[in-house]
Amino acid sequence: QQKHPQAERLPRARYGGRNAVTMLPGEGIGPELMGYVKEVFLEGGIPVDFETVQIDPKSDNNDDLEYAIMSIRRNGVCIKGNIETQSLDTAIISRNVTIRNELDLFVNAMNVKSYNNISSRHKNVDVIVVRQNTEGEYAMLEHESVKGVVESMKVITKTNSTRLARYAFELAKNNGRGKVTAIHKANIMKLSDGLFLETCKNMSLNYPDIKFDHMIIDNCCMQLVSNPHQFDVMVMPNLYGAIVSNVICGLVGGVGIISGKNYGDHYAVFEPGTRNTGSSIAGTNTANPIAMLNASADMLQHLGHKMHCDKIRTAICKTLNEDMIHTADLNGTAKSSEVVQNIIKYVKSIGERI
Ligand code: ATP
Repeated sequence: QQKHPQAERLPRARYGGRNAVTMLPGEGIGPELMGYVKEVFLEGGIPVDFETVQIDPKSDNNDDLEYAIMSIRRNGVCIKGNIETQSLDTAIISRNVTIRNELDLFVNAMNVKSYNNISSRHKNVDVIVVRQNTEGEYAMLEHESVKGVVESMKVITKTNSTRLARYAFELAKNNGRGKVTAIHKANIMKLSDGLFLETCKNMSLNYPDIKFDHMIIDNCCMQLVSNPHQFDVMVMPNLYGAIVSNVICGLVGGVGIISGKNYGDHYAVFEPGTRNTGSSIAGTNTANPIAMLNASADMLQHLGHKMHCDKIRTAICKTLNEDMIHTADLNGTAKSSEVVQNIIKYVKSIGERI
């Protein structure tokens, strides 16, 4: 289990021995995946109560979004699905981005680790992607300066780059990782990515036992596809993180497996790593439930429920690697509910043995 630099310090609500966490199901497959999480927790006797807040992205006011943010502030911890932003109307901003910005969740961290028996392009991948989560190309500062000319501002700050770089090196140190690679495009964006790269370089001086190197984002994508084993911990600005996360999840079996963690100095939000909505497969009992269940295990680790976390992780490994019960995205024939029932079988039978 990874030790996360922020995790120890973050608050978590606890009433009568049970944790309260906010659950944001989102759209598409989100609600059914959350149903599976609740089922596994209920069957496993896991002492967590969910405060569910459904956000309507079509609503013309932000009442439910504000309530959701207030709930996360109260509980300290959240598990979420993706909240779709389909409109190109500039007045309608992404609820996902708003949540991350309001709660100052400056880190997104994903451990992309292969499962043995999932058919994939590469075996034995084990890479941690650390992504800036609140600025860069997601600053949402766009305008049409004159008709037909649009400007979009990318914001990189020294403060956020410094705390992100520190996070990446601390994560590497705490987990016995040997190398941090900064990903950038400083040859073109000399000021913005230049600042990011310079900050990572400076931070590396505090960690002489960890090797530091850097790579341009386009080369990085090619290197990932041809030889992902050369990477250990990777740290990068926001949009590159979105792209790299998807490339690397694709290398180990696709969007349905890997989870992502969002941390700030005060709150933690857990979700599937590549943040998909999966609208076209909603309600078909075909969505892969593993990424959301892995997110729930990350959340349990964060809450300090190590035994329950281990049980879910073991049940997932046995289901994927030994029983090979795979959904269609992994070239299997199992329904989502069959995967979940198999996981529940293990969660119940593993009992207190772990
Ligand atoms: P969709 O085509 O389903 O409306 P989309 O275009 O909004 O999805 P994403 O939600 O990002 O795109 O999903 C990308 C692809 O991955 C889609 O084909 C989607 O159905 C599929 N997908 C996403 N999540 C899962 C999952 N948990 N299990 C299986 N397939 C998934």
